[in-house]
Amino acid sequence: MMIFMPHPACTDPIAQQLLMAYNDSPLLVALLDAGDHLRYANPAFRSAYGLDADELISWSELMRRNHALGNGAYIETRDIETWLSTVRSRRGKLPFRAFEADLCDGRWIWMTETLRADGWMLCVASDITVLRGSERSMRQQRDVALRAAQTDGMTGISNRAHIMEQLRDSIAERQQRDTPCGVVLLDLDYFKRVNDSYGHPAGDAVLKDFAHTVQRSLRRDDSFGRLGGEEFLLLFRGMSPKNLGSVVSVLLNVVRQRHPLPAHPDFGYTCSAGMTELRPGDDVRSVYKRVDEALYQAKGAGRDRSMWAV
Ligand code: GH3
Ligand code: MG
Ligand code: MG
Repeated sequence: MMIFMPHPACTDPIAQQLLMAYNDSPLLVALLDAGDHLRYANPAFRSAYGLDADELISWSELMRRNHALGNGAYIETRDIETWLSTVRSRRGKLPFRAFEADLCDGRWIWMTETLRADGWMLCVASDITVLRGSERSMRQQRDVALRAAQTDGMTGISNRAHIMEQLRDSIAERQQRDTPCGVVLLDLDYFKRVNDSYGHPAGDAVLKDFAHTVQRSLRRDDSFGRLGGEEFLLLFRGMSPKNLGSVVSVLLNVVRQRHPLPAHPDFGYTCSAGMTELRPGDDVRSVYKRVDEALYQAKGAGRDRSMWAV
């Protein structure tokens, strides 16, 4: 039995009542910060996800651990990094989201995610195991179909249609609320040589490594998708140009350190990037044209570098 200790900084009696109610509630309640680190979880949430009483870890770490130990969230995949990339392409993008999830103990939950403007996220879930199985399987099939329609099959990140939809949303936000947004087009360097030297499956392994490496370096509300082949698009909502430049140079550096082919431990790869900010009057075509020209400049200047669009 866990004894409830009010948070030392919490002196507001209503807030304390709320915390005590959560402490006793069968609802699963958790609060995550903008970096997707757990900052609060009630006992029901901790017990469902196999967390110790005071443990505060990142959401990705929790999912990796659940997958490895077979407790907490039921994650049906042999490739947890691809699974994480897929989930992260949808997580923390909307002010509110609700979905069904399985727990390893056989329970089904209805999870809601409420995203605040400062990036903190409230997760509240209720047990829906009693709902009829047949209805549930219909809803699940619909969810699976929706997810498949938005996901690139090989890398697990957003596909072309989904990332383009997010670009259109960002353009609308830039126009309506003046929210800045950085847009980056990435293309792997000399990728044809990878296929020619090591074979097509090795090329696929490099594409997956690239997608997962970039995805791991992103914030929750950044968007990342594969446009096709070895070309990828990144959206950084709310980011200043100065930060965009340094984030992209860190990304290029992280990619430079990778050695994804176990049979060829010395093999490494690089990518080039074209960068721009959304501007008033932009549409999808004008933005793509700008980043594509900047990418072309980066390639021409020797590759493994980023260039700003003019
Ligand atoms: P650059 O540095 O100028 O970008 O040169 P590059 O060789 O990367 O560019 P190019 O466009 O000439 O070649 C892209 C290659 O990517 C050709 C194509 O066979 C390969 N490719 C596209 N999609 C896939 C895929 O899904 N898997 C694999 N293995 N290769 C792919
Ligand atoms: Mg290329
Ligand atoms: Mg290309």
